[in-house]
Order: sequence, then C-alpha cells, then structure tokens
Amino acid sequence: MANQAKRIAELIEPLRVEPGSRVDLAKDFDPRYKRRGLKKKHGRELLETGIALLADYQRRLAAQNTYGVLLCLQALDAGGKDGTIRHVMSGVNPQGVHVSSFKVPSSEELDHDYLWRYACRLPARGDIGIFNRSHYEEVLVVRVHQENLDRQRLPESAKSGKLWHRRYREINEWERYLTDNGFKIVKLFLNLSKEEQRTRFLRRIDRPDRNWKFSSADVRERKFWDDYQKAFSEMLSATSTEHAPWYVIPADRKWFGRICAAAVLAHTLIEIDPQYPTVSDERRLDLLAVRRELEDEAPEGAERDPYAAGHGKKRKA
Ligand code: ATP
Ligand code: MG
Repeated sequence: MANQAKRIAELIEPLRVEPGSRVDLAKDFDPRYKRRGLKKKHGRELLETGIALLADYQRRLAAQNTYGVLLCLQALDAGGKDGTIRHVMSGVNPQGVHVSSFKVPSSEELDHDYLWRYACRLPARGDIGIFNRSHYEEVLVVRVHQENLDRQRLPESAKSGKLWHRRYREINEWERYLTDNGFKIVKLFLNLSKEEQRTRFLRRIDRPDRNWKFSSADVRERKFWDDYQKAFSEMLSATSTEHAPWYVIPADRKWFGRICAAAVLAHTLIEIDPQYPTVSDERRLDLLAVRRELEDEAPEGAERDPYAAGHGKKRKA
C-alpha cells in the first residue's frame, strides 16, 4: 500500500503546478506528455487498479463522514471532461458522487455574488462532488468575453482596480476556508493541444453518432485560443496553492490523461486516509449478546450462524 501511494505520488509530481511559480502553459506543460515507457496496453490495467482503489477509498470516505472532496475539472472544448468523469468514477458508488455542470449563468444566478451558484453545489461530508466546469470560469470565460462580466451587474467599486487579482485572492480564500473545514479540493486542468482539438472537432462532424456533441459555438470559441491560453496560464500561476494545488493533465492521449486524473484523486484520498468507524468495547459486547439471541432462533437443522459457517468453509477452501 505504501508502495502504491509512492508510485502514485511519483506519477503526478510532474503535473503539479508549484505554488507561487509563474506558468506559461505552452512552454511548461506538453499536452502530449506521457510517462516514459508506459504503453497503452499496460495503461488499461493501471486505470483499472486506480478505479478499484478509488472505490475502496470512497466507501471509507462515506463511512467516516468527516471529510468531503471537491474535484474541479477545467478544459477547453473537446478536452475530455465528460470522458474523464465517466471512466475515472466508473467504479464508485453513485450515491456518494454528485456531478454539477456549470453553463452560462441563469438570471437567478446572476442576481447573486459570483461564487453563490458554486457554493450551492458543494459536496457534503462523506461525498465526492465533481464540478464539470467550476468557479474558475469566473476568471476564464468571464475574462475572455467582457460581456459576461457586464451581465454580472457589479457595482462600480467591485469593477475598479485589479479585478482579476481580487478574484484570484477571493477564490484562494474560499478554498482555504473549505479546506480548513474538511473539504479537500482537487483541481484538474485538462490540457489539450490546438491540433488535437481540431482533430476531435472533425471526428464529431465525421461520425454521425458524434454529431450531437458538436456545437458551432465551440469553433467560434477556438478563435480565442490564445486569449484562453493566457487566461489559463495566469489562473494556474495565481491559484495553485499548498492547500489546493492545480494539476495540469496532458489531455492529447485520452488513456494517459484518465490515468493521471484517477491518480491525482487517489492521491488526495490516500492523504485523507479515511477510516471505517470502530465501535466501543461496550457496543461490541451488546452486539455479541444480540448475536447469541439470533443464534438461539436457528430453526431445526440449520446452522446456528450460517454466515460464520460459510465463512469458515471459504477460508478452509
Ligand atoms: P459539453 O459541450 O461537453 O456538453 P460544456 O461544459 O462545454 O459541455 P456547454 O453547454 O457546451 O457545456 O457550454 C457551457 C458554456 O457555458 C461554455 O461555453 C462556458 O464557457 C459557459 N460558461 C460556464 N460558466 C460560465 C460563466 N460563469 N459565465 C459565462 N459563461 C459560462
Ligand atoms: Mg461545449
């Protein structure tokens, strides 16, 4: 187990944005990065191991009911957010996971402060919440397209000065507050290359079963590629903190990106190390008394404790 935790930590280390560092996305993170020597066929096995590990930890997280986990997914269109959620969470109990997707804000949402709609969807203790797009849109799309900011109807005082720096600070403080109160925040940026995005869009057009996934708006957004790269770089530099660091997931190879996403989430859960609650000696004695009562109810010819008997057989086999 300790060995597994170490391997996971090593795998994700190059993806972590060092808090306080200045990121230039194009220079610092390669969307095609892959761990040396790792082949796709071994990747499948590795992902299966990661998924099983997540399932186990999620059960413990729910049973302990003390910590919650918030996974924030950011990407450009066709970055693979949906596929990442589908694969990485495929083994966990759906009752303990809640996915919230954030679109253009509604008029009710615009009537509130900009973090309100995200706060409404935070996970409870014991749960894993997934934000498919997140509060980071507030310093990404809102920054790239000024009209989104106009729609927020901020008072003059909130618009003046270094608005984006203020938002970074507010987001960091909000995340700090959540972390201090038992909610761990995992932030993944799926880093796609411009050429791979072009290929994925073409695939959506070429394959009739993918047409529904294609939106002309996505191609319009692509024209703002450089503005987004800049906004992402600044956001990563300003909001990767010790308590909630960013991980830049190489997204051009879907299979490797999914392994990395599962590994970052697993790393967080391993750090939390949730434990099943144990019962007191007194409660254990109560349970043993109930056990004797149930054994006494055994009908003629039946095992007094069929579970223990079956278990014993299995162990002998
Ligand atoms: P998919 O296309 O895979 O279904 P998606 O997340 O791209 O998923 P869409 O409905 O296509 O979902 O797009 C949602 C849109 O909402 C995006 O263009 C995004 O930039 C926009 N959006 C999200 N948050 C905000 C925000 N706070 N202000 C303005 N626009 C936002
Ligand atoms: Mg979309």
